[in-house]
Amino acid sequence: MDEVIEKLIALSDIDAMLKDAESDEYRNLGFQTKQECIDKLKKMRDEIASSIPRQVLKRYEKLKKKYGRGIAPVVNSVCTNCFMQFPTEVASKTDKNQKIEFCPNCGIIIYWT
Ligand SMILES: [Zn+2]
Repeated sequence: MDEVIEKLIALSDIDAMLKDAESDEYRNLGFQTKQECIDKLKKMRDEIASSIPRQVLKRYEKLKKKYGRGIAPVVNSVCTNCFMQFPTEVASKTDKNQKIEFCPNCGIIIYWT
C-alpha cells in the first residue's frame, strides 16, 4: 500500500479517537478522558500530518469538514461514504492502493479493502 494512504488512514483513526475523547456523549457515559491522553493523540496527529504532502492534507481537511472524515474504505466495491457502487472494471483492477484515488461521486479519498 502507498505510504501516504497508510498515513491518511492512521490520521483518520486518530481524528476519530479525538472526536470520541472530546465529545460530551463520551463524558456522559462516565469515561474520564485524561487531558494528557488527548495531548498525546494530538502530538501523534501533528507528527503524521507533517509527513503527508501538503496538498493531500489540505484536501483531507476539506473533506473532513464536509463529511466528518477525509478517507473512506471501499468495501465490496462500494464507497462507504456515499454508497456508490464502483464498476466491475474499476473494482477488479490489480493496482489498487498504489496511489491516492478519489471517489468519482463524492470526492472522498478512498482505499480498497
Ligand atoms: Zn463516494
